[in-house]
Amino acid sequence: MSNIQGKCLCEAVSYEISGQLGAVYNCHCSKCRRWHGAPFRTRASIDVSQFKLLSGENCLSTFKSSENVTKFFCKVCGSPLHSTYADRPNVIGIAIGALEGVESKPEANIFTASKASWYEITDGLPQYKSWPGSEAKVRETNE
Ligand SMILES: [Zn+2]
Ligand SMILES: [Zn+2]
Repeated sequence: MSNIQGKCLCEAVSYEISGQLGAVYNCHCSKCRRWHGAPFRTRASIDVSQFKLLSGENCLSTFKSSENVTKFFCKVCGSPLHSTYADRPNVIGIAIGALEGVESKPEANIFTASKASWYEITDGLPQYKSWPGSEAKVRETNE
């Protein structure tokens, strides 16, 4: 299996991911929406051992969006890239939009309780108020 490649808009930061991505989710939380300037962030979790930075370490900057979460972005072009978690040091959250060669598809919409009012979810995927499994499923969409 070939590695998945990722890069920021200006291409200064590039990296590769070995092995399989974790489940891909569209995250509608207000922080992802603001971070990406978009209705949601499509993201997956990987193990830190799967992530290899190829270039641009000096262009990466960080922002702590909460006590637990650190967001990494390119300080040249501003692209939102990955997240790390104080309570799960072996996990990296990856932005799928920055990757090439992804074969997996989103499995669910998460944090839909803070979804943008102007965006209607029409993909028919399950919707969760927060992380799947951490709370009762809001509804299985089948519209
Ligand atoms: Zn960049
Ligand atoms: Zn989010």
